[in-house]
Amino acid sequence: MEQKKKKISLYKKIRRDFYVRVEESEKKHRNKIIALALVTLLLASTLLFCATLLEKSTKGQYVYYYGDVEQKIKAENENHVIDFIALADFCGMSKNISINNASFEINNTRVSFTDGSDIAKINGINIKMPTPAAIKNGYCLIPLSILERISHGLNIITDKNETTIQIEGNIFMIAKDFEVKYETDISKYLEYIHSKDEYIYTLVNKQNPVDKTFPEDQDALIEIPAEYRKTDVIYLHYIAEKALEAMMNDMFALGYNDTYVTSAYRRYDKQQQIFDKYVNDLVNQGMSYDEAYATVLSDTALPGQSEHQTGLCVDLTTKSIVTVDNRFADTEVFAWLQDNAWKYGFVLRYPEDKVNITGYSYESWHYRFVGFDIAKIMHQTGLCYEEYLENFWDK
Ligand SMILES: [Zn+2]
Repeated sequence: MEQKKKKISLYKKIRRDFYVRVEESEKKHRNKIIALALVTLLLASTLLFCATLLEKSTKGQYVYYYGDVEQKIKAENENHVIDFIALADFCGMSKNISINNASFEINNTRVSFTDGSDIAKINGINIKMPTPAAIKNGYCLIPLSILERISHGLNIITDKNETTIQIEGNIFMIAKDFEVKYETDISKYLEYIHSKDEYIYTLVNKQNPVDKTFPEDQDALIEIPAEYRKTDVIYLHYIAEKALEAMMNDMFALGYNDTYVTSAYRRYDKQQQIFDKYVNDLVNQGMSYDEAYATVLSDTALPGQSEHQTGLCVDLTTKSIVTVDNRFADTEVFAWLQDNAWKYGFVLRYPEDKVNITGYSYESWHYRFVGFDIAKIMHQTGLCYEEYLENFWDK
């Protein structure tokens, strides 16, 4: 009996010891988990702290890539800036930097910044910037966001943190969002001047001819009112015609009332007649047919290659000139058109310095309607229509 009691008590002891051991091991295990959790927490917060530090250190500096050329700029505040001098070098702009002023020029467009001033000047037009320009240490720092408003053609790619900025493309300086003034009330013409109808973008030249059936929609051609022409009935596409009325009303209001339209829409066969007549005239003057043909071809369009078939352009002249020739370039109204035709969506289609691109001689009298948006870009970049399409179409 005594023996049995002993055995039971021993058994109890063993069992107790076992539970104590189990309990202790569980305790240890629990402690391990707590320790592990603490270490993990510490590690995570350390990482977070490092990341914040890292972010703080990279935030202090912007890295610009102009193509492959790298430039680092220290950020002075939260506003992104860009060094216009490096940008100008990348884009091939000419530059003129003094202590307080930096001016740049490309394609006859001039942009200038003054140290400490938040006004950028583009061809004399003032553009307000969100922060002032800073000209120092060989930099001309301007807010990056202003590039959007004063240029076209650049592709600016920033990384997620906005600290690396890649710049590609060609720059075209343009002052956007400035006020356009007219001489008369042109409100009823604005919808035409700002038309986005695809037809107004039609390109017709020696490489892009049209056939006899063009344009399909003959009903879109309407008569130009008698006050804007001289005798013959002249037709023009209705969108271009309305814009022309606005332009001519303003011209008349300014006293250029001896200007009139001498030609606009021309049928395919009419162009053929004109071409043949010019060749015959030269042949009658003693030139060989081949020579006469080549001479006429240099400045007269073959049927199908004339923009006049679109009904989107006009030839202008004055009562003292009557014919179409470059004496028109010496008139005051020509000078006015140079500065203002774009406001009505018209452009000088065959400029003197673009003959090798347009394929046509200089025609100071020939104005093409392309709509306000394109006319404005062409006016401010100095590009001709072929160049505009090459650089901006679908961008
Ligand atoms: Zn013409």
